[in-house]
Amino acid sequence: MKPLVLEKEQAGHWLKGLCNNFDIFAPLPTDKGYSDWQKWDGGDLFDVAKGVPKSSIKTFFFPQPEVLFQFNARASAPDAFRLREPKCQDKPRILFGVRPCDARSVVLNSMPYEEDPYFQKRIQETFIVGFLCREGCSTCFCKWTGGSPTGTEGMDVAAIDLGQVLYVEILSDKGKRLVGNGFFRSPTKDEETEAKDFVEKAKGQALDQDVASILRSKGLMHLYDAPFWNSVSEPCINCGTCTFLCPTCYCFDIQDETLRGKGRRIRYWDSCMFPLFTQHASGHNPRGDKLKRVRNRFMHKLKYFPDRFGPISCVGCGRCVRDCPVNIDIRQVLRSLLEI
Ligand code: SF4
Ligand code: SF4
Repeated sequence: MKPLVLEKEQAGHWLKGLCNNFDIFAPLPTDKGYSDWQKWDGGDLFDVAKGVPKSSIKTFFFPQPEVLFQFNARASAPDAFRLREPKCQDKPRILFGVRPCDARSVVLNSMPYEEDPYFQKRIQETFIVGFLCREGCSTCFCKWTGGSPTGTEGMDVAAIDLGQVLYVEILSDKGKRLVGNGFFRSPTKDEETEAKDFVEKAKGQALDQDVASILRSKGLMHLYDAPFWNSVSEPCINCGTCTFLCPTCYCFDIQDETLRGKGRRIRYWDSCMFPLFTQHASGHNPRGDKLKRVRNRFMHKLKYFPDRFGPISCVGCGRCVRDCPVNIDIRQVLRSLLEI
């Protein structure tokens, strides 16, 4: 489909027109000094700092928590313990302003969750309007991980911010459903040139080595027994911040609970950085010390996942670099793994 242009001052009107059928979320400023995903209330959509918002978009695909099914827990009831799907009242959602790294994380997470009906249903109901990046921030590194500041993987609509206008490309049938309401026009020649320049500049920063292939070719025990894991893990306080903020961390736990005759099974986020995550009922814990947990987190992202699915399970968003309280930096770990 040919590119289109939307005047920025029309963006609010366009989205308001979609509000009847969609809930719209965007990275908006918070009173804590950073931007984060919030339901759009009709205000300014473009007063957002560059780079990624505090949280990733995984919460829209893996709600925290998610009810898997419900049941009547009163043994005398005629429908006792019969499983029912939870009623979902949510409208389909538009995520407006998703950066290329976060959009790509949905594609990566779809690999292990290919057969998960809950995840797949949310993919169907979520429309991603991505914003390509003019420049990165000090902590992001998407091009190391197979992505690009102008990558469009996972997006339904890709937008380039050209100042007064958004230059828009429609990438899926879902995307087509969003733009058919008269707010868009064809781009001028100047706008086409400007958009092309934007993408060309980003291409100049292309990945200079195929990190995923290099790591796939390295022997597992060679990386597993590397001496630097001790110094990498030493400062870790196992707070789990890195895993909760990471768009490509998807570990979960499941619990059944009953209260006043109502029962439900819940899936909620868990973290491989917590000792209890791997504790067996016997008391044995195969990852009982933090060296093993830190090593597992990085080995999963940089070796086990690529061995199984191809790409690295990291999109280089830099959230873990930005927010780890003891400054453990995955870029340094990646360099060390490539060097041994
Ligand atoms: S954020 Fe840093 S300190 Fe916290 S668990 Fe992750 S690596 Fe360890
Ligand atoms: S590991 Fe860190 S940089 Fe990579 S996707 Fe997760 S939070 Fe982002």
